[in-house]
Amino acid sequence: MTSSLVTVAYLGATILFILCLGGLSNQETSRRGNLYGIIGMTIAVLATIAGPQVMTAGLPYIIGAMLVGAVIGLYAARVVQMTQMPELVALMHSLVGLAAVLVGYANFIDPAVTVGLTPAENTIHEIEMYLGVLIGAVTFSGSLIAFGKLAGKIGGKPVLLPGRHWLNLAGLVVVLWFGYRFVAAHGVSEAMLPMIVMTVIALLFGVHMVMAIGGADMPVVVSMLNSYSGWAAAATGFMLSNDLLIVVGALVGSSGAILSYIMCNAMNRNFLSVIAGGFGSDGGAPKAAGGGTAEPAGEVTPITAAETAEMLKEAKEVIIVPGYGMAVAQAQHTVNDITQALRARGVNVRFGIHPVAGRMPGHMNVLLAEAKVPYDIVFEMDELNEDFPDADVAMVIGANDIVNPAAQEDPTSPIAGMPVLEVWKAKHSIVMKRSMASGYAGVDNPLFYKENNRMLFGDAKKMLDEVLVALKA
Ligand code: NDP
Repeated sequence: MTSSLVTVAYLGATILFILCLGGLSNQETSRRGNLYGIIGMTIAVLATIAGPQVMTAGLPYIIGAMLVGAVIGLYAARVVQMTQMPELVALMHSLVGLAAVLVGYANFIDPAVTVGLTPAENTIHEIEMYLGVLIGAVTFSGSLIAFGKLAGKIGGKPVLLPGRHWLNLAGLVVVLWFGYRFVAAHGVSEAMLPMIVMTVIALLFGVHMVMAIGGADMPVVVSMLNSYSGWAAAATGFMLSNDLLIVVGALVGSSGAILSYIMCNAMNRNFLSVIAGGFGSDGGAPKAAGGGTAEPAGEVTPITAAETAEMLKEAKEVIIVPGYGMAVAQAQHTVNDITQALRARGVNVRFGIHPVAGRMPGHMNVLLAEAKVPYDIVFEMDELNEDFPDADVAMVIGANDIVNPAAQEDPTSPIAGMPVLEVWKAKHSIVMKRSMASGYAGVDNPLFYKENNRMLFGDAKKMLDEVLVALKA
């Protein structure tokens, strides 16, 4: 394939990627968006392999590597549970970072890359390599720690080293100094030390940055690392002189940055203070990622599945608030069946979705769409938060932090200031969960002890199955 044909193919792929991003911004068009993305990526890969930059002798290696990658990808897609998706995404970001580091080193060591470059071009190339490895290494180690935190292998509590801001600043100064030494160096052997020192500092910085972020702020970290992985890919594109990789990297980098900003707004957090770390640190309650251990502080009133069904039957307005527990229990299909049964009885059923419900952006929307819950009854938090006082029943299915009134009522709470769905303002609320365990942020939830609240204890799928049977009886 000639280079002009490759350029045309890349242009087509770029347009498809932009259409893909546009499609993914809305539930109804997201499938189509995904399809555009798949077609764009297929075109991009084929054009790259067939293009003049790849030697025929290298083809068997590339195809072999793609086969191995495809087998691993297919296997992962089959075995990974929906609840493990955030960990998988974090792990994939780490791979993008690692690829940038490896490409950077390969470029750096290979003398053929700089043949024919003018001194100015050479300096630009060196800066590309240095920055590429820097961003890649931070993304790699930061994403691995995020993976550990999301998988519950590392505690959700922030690890705050004394003088951590000074440590970061010192690291930045050293990286800048060695960057200067790297560009000024003559030959690979002289530049090797600055490159290695910078890589080690970048790896340590990635670990330090994510370790310092508390459990409740993990959504921002996940989308921020998504953005970093995009910039790492763009840097790789510069190193390989691949225009498409630069464009795609910039698209991922900027959309990840916008998403981080949206998440920060949703949680009423200042982006810089999240990155500086330490948020989510102790508010007095012990905590652990993915199921905290805060002590319950009051009496709760349990309810049975049959009683729940009775309450729902008598209601005119019902708002359902799903959370991480619905994903764990895979209860979305039963939720849809209950919704249909209630709607058939003339009950107005709506869903309230918190921007950080579950463990990844859009987690609940994906599950509800999978279960074929109609899009027009699924609302964002801001769209229906004011309607809770008119709701006869607010049904919380495996959610906790996102409906915690402490965010509004207790300024010392680790989640203070985070906007939440105000379910306690409904005439009655029912919280469905297995125990009194706290949510991801590890804080106790005063909603459970409110007079108009009832607790339906048990696995969400099992309990909803029972509610459905009682509803239809
Ligand atoms: P939470 O983790 O706060 O609460 C989920 C609740 O579900 C738990 O208290 C648990 O209680 C219950 N649960 C678990 N399994 C089941 C089951 N099988 N059946 C019934 N209930 C179950 O989730 P939320 O959705 O309310 O809030 C999301 C949290 O995750 C926020 O703190 C957010 O910051 C964080 N987060 C969000 C990310 C995102 O991008 N959306 C990414 C990373 C973190 P019990 O054990 O008693 O059943």
